Amino acid sequence: MKGKKMDNLKLVAGIGKERTKIQVGNAIFGEGLVIIAGPCSVESEDQILETAWAVKEAGADILRGGAFKPRTSPYAFQGLGLQGLKYLARAGEEAGLPVITEVLDTRDVSWIAEFAHMLQIGARNMQNFSLLKEVGKCQRPVLLKRGMYSTLEEWLNCAEYIMNEGNPQVVLCERGIRSFETYTRNTLDLSAVPAVKEISHLPVITDPTHGTGKVSLIKPMTLASVAAGADGITLEVHRNPAEALSDKDQALTHSQFEEIAKEVRLLERYMKEMKNELR
Ligand code: PEP
Ligand code: MN
Repeated sequence: MKGKKMDNLKLVAGIGKERTKIQVGNAIFGEGLVIIAGPCSVESEDQILETAWAVKEAGADILRGGAFKPRTSPYAFQGLGLQGLKYLARAGEEAGLPVITEVLDTRDVSWIAEFAHMLQIGARNMQNFSLLKEVGKCQRPVLLKRGMYSTLEEWLNCAEYIMNEGNPQVVLCERGIRSFETYTRNTLDLSAVPAVKEISHLPVITDPTHGTGKVSLIKPMTLASVAAGADGITLEVHRNPAEALSDKDQALTHSQFEEIAKEVRLLERYMKEMKNELR
């Protein structure tokens, strides 16, 4: 099952080993399905607050929001930085949700960790080894997204970098890879979910938002992720997608998110009952 270079996964590998559970607020990855939701970017105080309440009421466990954005163009909205983090932290506190945000730079890790309960390493930084080592030195759980051109082996070795620095709290996130297909923004590799579970004890979630880039495809791919055994999902939600400052074509409205969350919870319950019945 394991490739040759997978032999180097001293901390990440572990077939048959007890699955790792990672707690963020009241949510536990590896125990029930964790729903992360929120806008791509924090844009204003009332925007993040409004969405925080909406996703909380719909059943989300963790609030997301980017304050430092890795944009393709240097002229595109780069995020509100420190001000955005303050808005995000306040919104999470008010709505009663822990928060996750992306870190782009080694110099920012320790102070961003004071505002966020979980740190995200984005696809574009998956193999930024200094950044991986830096988050490995902090005590916050890390969501490690799969690079868009990365094999499972490369991705899991990046988790190894983080763990090797002393931080065992790594959650993997499949967010779609580049393929020859152009209809979707990326190709969500759902086989990565059970595949990672064959190799590693770490929790793995999916990101059907970036994985498809299309609102109409998010619900089916979310439900498919749950059926494939994902430990959670992360979804982008905006109060008015047409006006979002980043990723507007893939943002769910509050009511679209509510509908998906409802179906996800029903599927989660069904799968639990099925497992019990088969026992
Ligand atoms: C994001 O979550 O907003 C993001 C930039 O994701 P990715 O790194 O997967 O592109
Ligand atoms: Mn985004």
